[in-house]
Amino acid sequence: MQYVDVMIVGGGPAGISAAIWCKRLGIDHLLLEKKNELGGQLAKIQNEIIDYPGLYAENGQAMQMVLTKHAAKLNCNCKLNATVLKIDEAQKTVTFEQDGKLEVIHFRYLVLASGAGQRRLEVPGEREMLQRGEDYSATTDGQLFKNKTAAVVGGGDRAFEGAILLADAGVNVFLIHRTQSFKARSEFITLANQKSNIKILTDTKVTAINGDHRVTSITLVKDDGESSCLMVDAVFVRIGIKRNYELVEGKVAIDPQGLIVTDQTGKTSNSSIFAVGDVCTDSPLSSIAASVGQGATAAKFLASLLV
Ligand SMILES: Cc1cc2nc3c(=O)[nH]c(=O)nc-3n(C[C@H](O)[C@H](O)[C@H](O)COP(=O)(O)OP(=O)(O)OC[C@H]3O[C@@H](n4cnc5c(N)ncnc54)[C@H](O)[C@@H]3O)c2cc1C
Repeated sequence: MQYVDVMIVGGGPAGISAAIWCKRLGIDHLLLEKKNELGGQLAKIQNEIIDYPGLYAENGQAMQMVLTKHAAKLNCNCKLNATVLKIDEAQKTVTFEQDGKLEVIHFRYLVLASGAGQRRLEVPGEREMLQRGEDYSATTDGQLFKNKTAAVVGGGDRAFEGAILLADAGVNVFLIHRTQSFKARSEFITLANQKSNIKILTDTKVTAINGDHRVTSITLVKDDGESSCLMVDAVFVRIGIKRNYELVEGKVAIDPQGLIVTDQTGKTSNSSIFAVGDVCTDSPLSSIAASVGQGATAAKFLASLLV
């Protein structure tokens, strides 16, 4: 069976950084990434990236290209289209699927860099919507829905900010939230209330997203049980962030807020398993710079253990 000193799961900024540092420090490593490219969330960033020291990027794809080229230039050991399905912490093995085949590799240390993504509603029609590519950005796609109607689901900053951006682009917005209390900052709430093209529906859940070839409507259920259908052209689900830590659930300590507990080197409660980047960082604190730093720190610490 194949063996590697440091197994890195996830090829976003945190994983790439860990791989680059492993390479630099002469550590036998392997990075497994389930997508067909490195970069993680960078692929989805449409905005300029102005907050990563030393590298201004016009958008996420531009930064993704730089990081990918860097890893390739150093010959970091990466496998793409390799989805990790299981981590066996007792046997110290990772099982992953690539091209329909299952492979098992032994590791000495594992660095979990599996990142985070949007929390989903998990209602009928949502997966189909995403598979059709209807995963729009309020920052850049507002013009597509000018004079049309969009639903924004959620009650936090991202939901309110999205609703305001869409309203400013001329979209008629329904902001839908399951309770009456919002987590969003008060400036956003005040601004949204001032906009005539934002209608806020509270105590309301979205229970289905409808439409065969594109979104045409959503099904809503009020707290009192009343159900209705709202005609919309797009749905923006902004109900928070989900950290991808299922692979280590029950295997490492996770705090009541759902964050993997790590020390400053990324070490979890299992001394063979490290976590870096968004997978273990509270979302207001997460960033590309933080992820890259955490990946580097874990690799440097591992170098000291592997001598
Ligand atoms: C729209 C948007 C705009 C943003 N703008 C900025 C910004 O301007 N500045 C900034 O600093 N940050 C920004 N961020 C945040 C930044 O992108 C993240 O903090 C950063 O990408 C986190 O890096 P990561 O490597 O920890 O995780 P991710 O980028 O999430 O990468 C994780 C990787 O792990 C892979 N993976 C997951 N599970 C498995 C598995 N089982 N097997 C194999 N691979 C797996 C995923 O496919 C993914 O490639 C933005 C994010 C978004 C979504």
